[in-house]
Amino acid sequence: MVRVRFAPSPTGYLHVGGARTALYNYLFAKHHGGQFILRVEDTDLERSTDESMRMQIADLKWLGINWDEGPHPETHADMGPHGPYRQSRRKEIYMQYAEKLVETGRAYFDFRGDAELEAIKERLMKEGKPPQIEAPAEIVPPAEARARIARGEQAAIRYRVTEKRDYVLNDLVRGEVRFPSDMVGDFVCIRSNGMPVYNFCCVIDDALMQITHVLRAEEHLSNTLRQMMLYEAFGFPIPKFGHLSFILGPDKQKLSKRHGGNILPRFQFKGLPA
Ligand code: GLU
Repeated sequence: MVRVRFAPSPTGYLHVGGARTALYNYLFAKHHGGQFILRVEDTDLERSTDESMRMQIADLKWLGINWDEGPHPETHADMGPHGPYRQSRRKEIYMQYAEKLVETGRAYFDFRGDAELEAIKERLMKEGKPPQIEAPAEIVPPAEARARIARGEQAAIRYRVTEKRDYVLNDLVRGEVRFPSDMVGDFVCIRSNGMPVYNFCCVIDDALMQITHVLRAEEHLSNTLRQMMLYEAFGFPIPKFGHLSFILGPDKQKLSKRHGGNILPRFQFKGLPA
């Protein structure tokens, strides 16, 4: 069964690029007799708003794009067996999975603060190396780390990139894409304030929601490396990926929520052409 999703971040209006991504996913699901899921990616607490979520849902409805699972189009209550469909309500799930990575040694608690991490990056740049964070010489054992956290200290959970090799993606749109693993350093899965990061949530959710095809904007291509690492670490089947090219404005700049891309020019809409 084909299962695809549209996963907007509620940080502004639905824009033309987002509407196209939603439409392609919807049509792909319909074509294959599959299911289309709407998932709200609202872990960026500072930029996400309920108002934006409501508007994006209303705009999708206006476009006639219906979803089989996700927030109910009217009540916004979870609709379907794989909820919650808002990431901010799935924090415990992400934490459980992050703990699994810690248990298997694929991730570690990192007590280094921003200043220390910045100093490391600066030193690396001075040495002419990419500013990528690696594990500290001594990783705090998980039991000790949990005890320190219980006493009020803060730590991030960082995925440990150990293997040096190419990850090969056979993208449905772009064909073969090779990512050398050293494009990324050890990356954060859970921030020290307890909030999970996009790459981590996305993999857990796509796996648990049994997504078969990830059709999304090209800007996420470079995220796919970290996501492939996480799929492997968890032993999750890797979905097929298709990265859709950008829609550019007449000035060849990418359309975005903040740049000419609002789907409904709310105060100027003069009706559809006859
Ligand atoms: N929340 C992401 C966005 O709004 C979508 C990421 C994805 O589709 O994997 O761009």
